[in-house]
Amino acid sequence: MVDFFEPSSREELGRRLKAACIGTVPQSMSLQAVDRDGRLVALELRLVPHRRGRQPSVFGLAANPGATGNAVEELEILRDSYTTLSETMSDPILQINENFRILFANTAVQNVFGYPREELVGKDLSMLFPPSVYERYSGLLRKYFIVDVADRKASRLEHSLEMLGQNKNREVVPLELTFGNSKSHRGERVLTCIVRDITQRKMAERRLRFLAYHDKLTELGNRDLFYVTLGQFLQSVKRYHDSQGALLFLDLDGFKKVNDTLGHAIGDRVLCECARRLSSCLRESDQVYRFGSELEPGTAPQEDLFRFGGDEFVILLTRLARPTDAAVVSQKIIEAIRRPFHLPGVEDSSKVAVGVSIGIALIPEDGTDPMSLIRSADVAMYKAKEQHNRYVYFTAELNEKARERVTLESGLRGALDKRQLDLYYQPIVNGFGHIEGAEALLRWRNSSGEQVPPSHFIPVAEDTGLILPIGDWVLERACRDLRSWNENGHAELYISVNLSSRQMVREDMVHRLLEVIRDTGVNPSNLKIEITETSLMHDPQAARRQLEEIKTRHPGIRIAIDDFGTGYSSLAYLSDFPVDLLKIDRRFVINLDKGQNARIVNSIIALARNLKMDVVAEGVETVDQFRYLSAQDCRTFQGFYFAKPMNSVELSGLLASKK
Ligand code: C2E
Ligand code: MG
Ligand code: MG
Repeated sequence: MVDFFEPSSREELGRRLKAACIGTVPQSMSLQAVDRDGRLVALELRLVPHRRGRQPSVFGLAANPGATGNAVEELEILRDSYTTLSETMSDPILQINENFRILFANTAVQNVFGYPREELVGKDLSMLFPPSVYERYSGLLRKYFIVDVADRKASRLEHSLEMLGQNKNREVVPLELTFGNSKSHRGERVLTCIVRDITQRKMAERRLRFLAYHDKLTELGNRDLFYVTLGQFLQSVKRYHDSQGALLFLDLDGFKKVNDTLGHAIGDRVLCECARRLSSCLRESDQVYRFGSELEPGTAPQEDLFRFGGDEFVILLTRLARPTDAAVVSQKIIEAIRRPFHLPGVEDSSKVAVGVSIGIALIPEDGTDPMSLIRSADVAMYKAKEQHNRYVYFTAELNEKARERVTLESGLRGALDKRQLDLYYQPIVNGFGHIEGAEALLRWRNSSGEQVPPSHFIPVAEDTGLILPIGDWVLERACRDLRSWNENGHAELYISVNLSSRQMVREDMVHRLLEVIRDTGVNPSNLKIEITETSLMHDPQAARRQLEEIKTRHPGIRIAIDDFGTGYSSLAYLSDFPVDLLKIDRRFVINLDKGQNARIVNSIIALARNLKMDVVAEGVETVDQFRYLSAQDCRTFQGFYFAKPMNSVELSGLLASKK
C-alpha cells in the first residue's frame, strides 16, 4: 500500500498505521500520494481502527480536498464510503453534538442497545445510560469535545472510558467508549464515539479475580483475600475507634482420619460440606453480631469466611456487639460440624466423624496488626485442640504458655546433638525386693542446666515428631546398657522401654527395632516394650498389626500396656492384642485409700490373671500400699518405696550390692 505514497509521507503513514492498529483512536493526517501517471496528489487520510476477532485491522478513508472535479460528488462518495464503513463495523458508532444529541448511529447500535438506529437519531445520549451513571460521567464526556486526541494524555484523559450503559429493556451493560477528535460541522462541534460491549471481558476479569482470591475446592475466600480483608477491617477499626471484631481460627478434628480411611475424594467432599455448614451458620448468626454495628455502611468487608488451607478455616466477625457473641457463633459452628454426614452415593458416609476446635482472638484487644492477631487466634486454637469440639478465647496466660512452649521446642531440637539427654533406670522388683528389671526413663538437662520433667517435654517431642530421633536414641542406649548388664553377672535382668504412639504408627517401626537388636547384640527375651493404653487406643488396628509383627519376628520380646486403667480400652480389644503384662497406673496406687481406687486395682489384677497376663503396680510409695497389693496377689512392683529412677552407674552399683 505504501507504494501509492510519496516517499516522504511513507514514514508518517507507517507510524499512524501502527498507532491505529495498537490503539483504539482514529488517526488523521495529510499526505502526498502518487497517481497512476506519477503525479503528486494531496490527500486527507483518516485511519479508523476496527477490531474484528483477534486480528487488528484499520479502515482508511481518503479525500482529495484540492480535486478539481465535482465537489458535491466527491462529498457524496466520501459520505457513502463512511456509511458503508460504519455499517461493516460490528461495534456501535455514534455521533453526538455538544448538547449530547445523537446525530448519527450505525445499525450495530441495535445489537448492544436494542434500539434500531432510527429510534436513536435526534434523541439525547442519556437514554443509553442509567441516569445515575450518566449524571456522574457527563462532565467527563464533555471534555472529549474540547481536548484533542493528541492532548488527552497531558489532560489525563483516557483514550477510552469504561462505563455502564442501559439497553432498551433497562438492562445494564458494561461498555467501553472510544472517542475521536471533535470536528466542526456546519457550525456545531461533532464527536464520534465507538461503543463496545465488554460484558464478556468483564466476566472473564471477574472470573480471574475470583480465581486469584478464592479456594478452588470450596470457593471460599483464600488466604490472600483474608489478608486483604483483615487489613481493610483493621484500618476501619483504627478510624472508628468503637468498632469491634473477632478472628476465629478453626481446625477440623478427625479430618485426617477421614482422608486416610475413606480417601481424598471423600475428604474433599467433607471439606465442601463443612464449608457449606460454616457459611450457613454465619448467615444465621448474622443478627447476633450485625446489631450494634458502628461501621459506616459499605465499609465492612462482605467476605467473612476463608479457607486457610488443609482443614483450617478462618472467620472474621466484623460487627461484634459484645465479645461473648463470638462464643455464640462458635458454639453454633461446633454443633453444625459435629452433625452426622450424609454424602449421597457414599456408603460409609455415616462413619465420617469430624469436629472442630476454635481459637478466638478479639479485635482490637488481642492484636491490632494482622500478624499478632493471627498468632493470638492460633495460640487459642492450639489450646482448644487439646480437647476437641470446643472454643477457647485467647488470654495473656495462654500466650505465656505458648512462648514457653516455643522455647522448650527450640531447646529440645538441639538436645540430642548437645548430649543433654540421659537415660535413668527405675528398678522393678518382686515381692522379696529382688530387682528383676528396670524401666528406662528419659531425662533432659537443658542449656540452663535445669532438669525438664518428661511430662513437659515428651508431649512436645511427640507433637513435633522429635520423638522419632529421640526414641531411636533411647532404644539403642537402653539396649547397649542392657547387654552390658546381661554380660556382667545379671543375665536375667530385663529393661522396659517406653514407646510413644508416634513411634508405634511409624511404618518402619518393626524394622528399626530389629536393627537395634541386631546391632547391639542384645537378647530380645530381656527386652520389654511399654505402650500406654491411650496411645494403643489411638489407632488400635495399626497398633495391633505392629505388635503382632514384633511378636512374630521375636517371640521373646514382651509387651506391656502402660498406665493401664486410664485409657478406656475395651476388654474385647485387650484380649485381642498380643500383650504380656499390664502396668497399673500409679494414680490408682497412690490413691488406694480414696474412692473406688482399691476396687479398680483389684479388678485390674483379676483381669490380668484371667487373661494370663502379668501385672506390675507402678508408683508404690508406702509399705501399706505394698502390703495391700501383695495381698491382692500382685507380685511385681515399681515405685519410690523400693527405688527412685537412677542413672546407669548407680543402677550398676545397686545391682552389685544386692548380689
Ligand atoms: P511412665 O512410663 O508411666 O513412667 C513411670 C513414671 O512414674 C516415671 O516418671 C517415674 O519416675 C514415676 N514414678 C515411679 N515410681 C513412682 C512413685 O512411687 N511415685 C511417683 N510420684 N512417681 C513415680 P517420669 O520419669 O517423670 O516419666 C514420666 C512419663 O514420661 C513416663 O511415664 C513415660 O510415659 C514418659 N517417658 C519417660 N521416658 C520416656 C521415653 O524414653 N520414651 C517415651 N515415649 N516416653 C517416656
Ligand atoms: Mg512406662
Ligand atoms: Mg506408667
